Amino acid sequence: MLDKEQLRRNLDNVIWNIEKARITVSEHHIVKLVTVGKYTDSANIETLYSLGQRAFGENQVQQLEERSSLLEELPLEWHFIGTLQKNKINKLIGIRPFLMQSIDSIDLALALNERLKHKESSMNCLLQINSAKEESKSGVSTEEAIDIYQEIRERCQHIHLKGVMSIGAHTDDQEIIKRSFETTHKLYEKLENDGAEICSMGMSGDYEMAISCGSNLIRVGSALFK
Ligand SMILES: *Cc1c(COP(=O)(O)O)cnc(C)c1O
Repeated sequence: MLDKEQLRRNLDNVIWNIEKARITVSEHHIVKLVTVGKYTDSANIETLYSLGQRAFGENQVQQLEERSSLLEELPLEWHFIGTLQKNKINKLIGIRPFLMQSIDSIDLALALNERLKHKESSMNCLLQINSAKEESKSGVSTEEAIDIYQEIRERCQHIHLKGVMSIGAHTDDQEIIKRSFETTHKLYEKLENDGAEICSMGMSGDYEMAISCGSNLIRVGSALFK
């Protein structure tokens, strides 16, 4: 377990960096921090809670289930940010996450919608876009993103689409990373007419750049737990 003071310093540092980056966009630009717990244990999540953090993300349904039930007394907001296998859909619905950030195909949306309908439930979701065009990454292509977003809105009444999510390009070339964020943000702006409110992009290594490109939700893990 990390020392509380170390965690406090790391969190303060991230919050300060967010502040510096968001002010370059606009005084009114607000950025939400979702802390990603996959590299750490529940004790550190509780410590972050005691330091004021409320929104937590997990990329595995199993882990999300365990932690949200272990910490259910705390008023936390849980985000699912990983690849969802169809055989885990029921389990995820049972957890009732605050936001499911990773719808990565029309097939997954239809399957999730079907199960939600059956359970007379609904879920807030984001459409994941593979703006970096990397084979290893999930997400719909930039070319199809708008059409798929609209198709989900029309065909999936139990899915409430709130915006888009993307992972920055996996490279040290800052220009390429920036371009991938700009691509996502342009699509997000077009989708604002269809009710998009959340542009989720930016992780430990690139959240400041993501914010300067217009991100309003960042997902940060390793920068906090070092
Ligand atoms: C792990 C993960 C993060 C956080 O990554 P860090 O680089 O550790 O900040 C963010 N988003 C997704 C989808 C992840 O899987």
